[in-house]
Amino acid sequence: SSAPTPLLVCDRIERSFGGLKALKSVSIAIHPGQIFGLVGPNGSGKTTMVNAITGFYPPDAGQVRFAGRDLRGLKPHRIARLGIARTFQNLALFRGMSVLDNILVGRHLHMRPGALPALFYPFWARPAEIRHRAVVEEVIDFLQLQDVRDQPVEVIPLGLQKRVELARALAAEPRLLILDEPMAGMNQEEKEYMARFILDARDAFGTAVLLIEHHMDVVTALTDRLLVLTYGEPIAEGDPHEVIARPAVVAAYLGK
Ligand code: ADP
Repeated sequence: SSAPTPLLVCDRIERSFGGLKALKSVSIAIHPGQIFGLVGPNGSGKTTMVNAITGFYPPDAGQVRFAGRDLRGLKPHRIARLGIARTFQNLALFRGMSVLDNILVGRHLHMRPGALPALFYPFWARPAEIRHRAVVEEVIDFLQLQDVRDQPVEVIPLGLQKRVELARALAAEPRLLILDEPMAGMNQEEKEYMARFILDARDAFGTAVLLIEHHMDVVTALTDRLLVLTYGEPIAEGDPHEVIARPAVVAAYLGK
C-alpha cells in the first residue's frame, strides 16, 4: 500500500533578508489531522517559515505544495482561500468590534475579499451569508464564547482574546491551521483550555495543525511530530518526547 499523501509539503525552503539567511533548507510534511510542532530559540526562523507557507514572504528557493498544488506566485489571500488559516503571535483582532463580528469578518476575509454586510446582499447571495453565520455560531458554541459574543473584543481577558483569534481562524473551515504561539502570555488555566480546544478542533474537524510554541510541556502534550530549528536550520525531527531529549536540542535551548 502507498503512504498517504501529505496535505502540506515544504521542500528545501530558503529565505534571506538582506545578508541574513533566515531559512537555509527547511523541509516539512504535514498530514491531514496531524499536529506538527515547530520549535526553536528566538530568531531561529519559525515565523519566517510560516510567512513562506502563507505567501507573506515567499521563499527564495524551494517549493511549497498544499493539497497537491504548488503555491508559488500566489498572494496570501489566495493561499488562505485554499484552506490555510493562521493566528498571529501578537493579537490581530479588530478593536471596537464585538467578538461575534470579529469572527464573522474573519470568515469573510478568508472566503471572499470585499464581501458586504448581509443587508446589501442581493437575494441570490443570501444563502451564502446564512451559511457563514451558521458556521460562526457553531464555532462560538464549540469554543464556549457564548457569554462574551456581544462584548467589544478589547474588554475581555487576554486568554479569551486568543480564543477569539482561534475562533476566527476556525470559522474559515481551514484544512490547515497555523498557530503562532497561541499560549503566549496565558496563565496555566488558560493554557490548559487552549490545549484542549486545539486537540478538540483537530478531532472534530480533522484539521491539520502547524503549532509554533515555546512551552515545551505544551509541545510534547499536543504534537504528533516535532521539528527543531536553530539559525534557520533543522537540527532534529521526529517523535516529540524523543526529540526534546536529544543533546543537540538541549544544548540549543541552553544557548551552548
Ligand atoms: P522566530 O520566529 O524563530 O523567532 P523569525 O522567523 O521571526 O524567528 O526570524 C528569523 C530571522 O530572520 C531573525 O534574525 C529575524 O531578525 C529575521 N527576520 C525575520 N523577518 C524579517 C524581515 N521582515 N526583515 C528582516 N529580517 C527579518
